Amino acid sequence: MSDSDISTPPASSFILRYGLAVSSVAAALFITYLLRPDALVSPIFFLAIILSAWFGGIGPGLVAALLATMAIAYFLHPQHSLRFADVPHLFVFFVSALLVSSWSATRKRAQNLLQQARDELEIKVQERTADLRQTNQQLQAEIAERSRVEEALREKAGLLDLTHDTVFVRDMNDVIRYWNRGAEELYGWKQAEAIGQVTHQLTQTMFPEQLKKINDELLNTGRWEGELEHTRRDGSKVRVASRWSLQRDEQGRPTAILETNNDITERKEAEDALQKTQAELMHVTRVTTMGELTASIAHEVNQPLAAVVTNGNAGLRWLAIQPPNLLEVRQAVERIINDGNRASAIIGRIRALVKKAPVRKDLVDINDVIHEVIALTGNELQRNRVSLVTQLSDALPLVLGDRIQLQQVILNLIINGVEAMSLLEEGPRELLIKAAKDDSNDLLVAVRDSGIGIQSANLEQLFDAFYTTKTDGMGMGLAICRSIIETHGGRLWATANSPCGAVFQFTLPATDSRVS
Ligand code: ADP
Repeated sequence: MSDSDISTPPASSFILRYGLAVSSVAAALFITYLLRPDALVSPIFFLAIILSAWFGGIGPGLVAALLATMAIAYFLHPQHSLRFADVPHLFVFFVSALLVSSWSATRKRAQNLLQQARDELEIKVQERTADLRQTNQQLQAEIAERSRVEEALREKAGLLDLTHDTVFVRDMNDVIRYWNRGAEELYGWKQAEAIGQVTHQLTQTMFPEQLKKINDELLNTGRWEGELEHTRRDGSKVRVASRWSLQRDEQGRPTAILETNNDITERKEAEDALQKTQAELMHVTRVTTMGELTASIAHEVNQPLAAVVTNGNAGLRWLAIQPPNLLEVRQAVERIINDGNRASAIIGRIRALVKKAPVRKDLVDINDVIHEVIALTGNELQRNRVSLVTQLSDALPLVLGDRIQLQQVILNLIINGVEAMSLLEEGPRELLIKAAKDDSNDLLVAVRDSGIGIQSANLEQLFDAFYTTKTDGMGMGLAICRSIIETHGGRLWATANSPCGAVFQFTLPATDSRVS
């Protein structure tokens, strides 16, 4: 209740309060009239004023003081002959009556306020106690719910232990929080040893691409899948198909990562063995082809070379006799020139044969060819930790050509790029394959790597047959690639990439047909 509420009581009590003032002064007047002792007039009236102010408030107190003063004036001089000498006496009484009335009303008011404050305090204490009781009940309910959830989690963890898959949970700093029995079996660390460790340090994870990219994908999509290589406690390597799932709290903030890993080491080893066999087969085929080519070149060229040597010797002999037979010498030199021309013609014929080898002319979608080669080289890229980016435009024109030969070109460029990057100890290993239309609406394919790069002086030399900087290289790859692309009516060239690496690009003439 406010202060103004106290000073403005309801109308019903108004009459009572002022009635009390009037009746108490009347009673005082009556008592004084009965007793009639002149000296005791004032105290009885003061009592009436105190009672009026105490129970009625300042207003009734004031009225009582006024009425009492008038009563005293009447009491002293009932014949209404008030003397001037009595005025100060009456004034002092009136002022005293006012002070007493005001003191009494103020005391009463203070007592009321005190009482009210006490009441309010009591109500507040009761409310607070009720609140605390409620909070206490809520807390107890929460604790019960939490124990239920923990129990459920324990049950789930028990289930996770039954699976042979590796399951662990790590927080956003990659610190392991949960490690199931499958993980203990696969990696060799017990739960107590693994929990609290940083997962990628513990298992020495090798990623197929930059960890930042993987984490970006995880944060954006909530999951990531890929193949990883881990090192077990005993130092042996294990390859796993890994699935990561991001856990969030009620506010949507990432809190943990659930990682499930399946051991695919055996499958991968079988795949690698198969791929190695395929590569060896490819190598053997190449060597065989090269061997056959070399043998036929040697056979064809050997004859004129032998004739050159024979004619050279004959020429020397004709020069040695006295006098030298210059006519014979001249004829020997002419035969040498003829043999030289024959050898050159043979080489020319073989080159023409290689170049004009009939090329299959199918309508080829270059994006399909690129995808097929990527599927072939997937393992190679992963093994060398190369991250691959493709930028393949839609609706590219089809090209007329030999699908297998075009695959061979792209495969060669990719493998060269990977080898150039695997020579680098550090730095990103990024391979970009791009297919687009060039300014003349022909097809342009580019393979860009971040490897060791090429000296600008060597840019053309790379395409020479037998040019290689690799210990086990043949130096035929780029020469064959250029020959294939030129046979298809296109152009193949190399440039340096910025800031590092190389770009190999080729064009192919577009047909009128379009990819729908
Ligand atoms: P090989 O791979 O057998 O050496 P190639 O004709 O394919 O034969 O390549 C010839 C040479 O060109 C390589 O030895 C290498 O020095 C250089 N080369 C090819 N591709 C790249 C590349 N992407 N980055 C740097 N150098 C390259």
